[in-house]
Amino acid sequence: MKILIVNAGSSSLKYQLVDMEGEKIMAKGLVERIGIEGSKLTQKVNGEQLVFEQPIANHTEACSLMIKALTDAEKGAVKDMSDIGAVGHRVLHGGEAFTASMLITEEVKDAIRANIPLGPLHNPANLMGIEACEAVMPGVPNVAVFDTAFHQTMPAKAYMYGVPYEYYERLHVRRYGFHGTSHRYVSKRACEFLGLDRNNTKVITCHLGNGSSMAAVKNGKCVDTSMGITPLEGVVMGTRSGSMDPAVVQFIANNEGMTVDEVLNMCNKKSGLLGISGLSSDMRDIDKAADEGHERAALARDMLHYGIKKYIGSYAAAMGGVDVIVFTAGIGENGAELRESVMKDFEFLGAKLDPQKNIEGNRKESVISADDSKVKIVVIPTDEEIVIARDTLCIVTGQPIE
Ligand code: ADP
Repeated sequence: MKILIVNAGSSSLKYQLVDMEGEKIMAKGLVERIGIEGSKLTQKVNGEQLVFEQPIANHTEACSLMIKALTDAEKGAVKDMSDIGAVGHRVLHGGEAFTASMLITEEVKDAIRANIPLGPLHNPANLMGIEACEAVMPGVPNVAVFDTAFHQTMPAKAYMYGVPYEYYERLHVRRYGFHGTSHRYVSKRACEFLGLDRNNTKVITCHLGNGSSMAAVKNGKCVDTSMGITPLEGVVMGTRSGSMDPAVVQFIANNEGMTVDEVLNMCNKKSGLLGISGLSSDMRDIDKAADEGHERAALARDMLHYGIKKYIGSYAAAMGGVDVIVFTAGIGENGAELRESVMKDFEFLGAKLDPQKNIEGNRKESVISADDSKVKIVVIPTDEEIVIARDTLCIVTGQPIE
């Protein structure tokens, strides 16, 4: 079966077509600037690029254009859309309603809609993507794969915030966590790769990209994660502040005459590596500047390394030990220096990096711990798309999801 994977943002739509026989990627595409001047679709099939530059008013038009590109006689990937068996959608916030991927029905859409207050930027866009696919591909089943679902196994002691309980009951204020599809994939894959039984293994996963999150995965189930009710909590990120005393928000708002919304916008978009360094949100720029002696870039880098280190220590404590530490996503997969710095002085926990293996371990599945390290440290490139495709296949063929 051929499965289309759709990741709809507010003004963009990324897609991939996967042939599940051999899990081969047949096409990759991006629709940019939906509803804004300069709209454009770019698609790659077998290295051949196809570009449509034309006004694209909304997500339905974006989906129609995606179909036109996928079925293009010269540079398309399929003859017609009847070749596509199902569509898998990445959906940001499933709230407490979803603990796994779901076949999309009216009830599921209602629940995604009900979670808009928790995911105000992404959930409306995800819904637009779903409804656009329903409109342009009638009869094709759609599946939702939630970023939050994997974390729903956390115990209440890990997900509750210490505010009055009524806010949980009335407003669902709690930790949800994000990047769940990635944490699920890399924790499982790391165990397969190492030949370990994931039902009897304690894994700490470090998903370090523009947005970063950590998770403690005990016996295949998430028991804690660093992101919270929104993706703002946790380690310092590209433009997000990560965790801090919430009084900082009030303090800045009062002193600068800003609203809470304005301060939180600043915490989401102008903080983190960008805000501390004053230079860039991109780790490569930060590393380069820090190595050249830029003090605030070095500080931003130190803050990130230190934050990750603290989460590893606390998650090892939370699980009563750790067997495997996984690094993934842009920084985790490429950042040998970061991995070395983070894992320094962790011998007390039984975790020792092999410097050479660490350098050679970039961008591929690899063990980067020393042979005598009790804790295995690994790099596992993440692959959220394949999880979405596999879940979609399982759901539409009635197989259990792994
Ligand atoms: P997103 O969260 O947008 O999916 P990615 O997982 O692609 O992000 O990660 C982007 C981050 O990865 C950026 O900070 C980028 O600088 C970083 N990155 C990519 N390549 C390298 C590298 N060679 N060394 C260090 N960081 C890198």
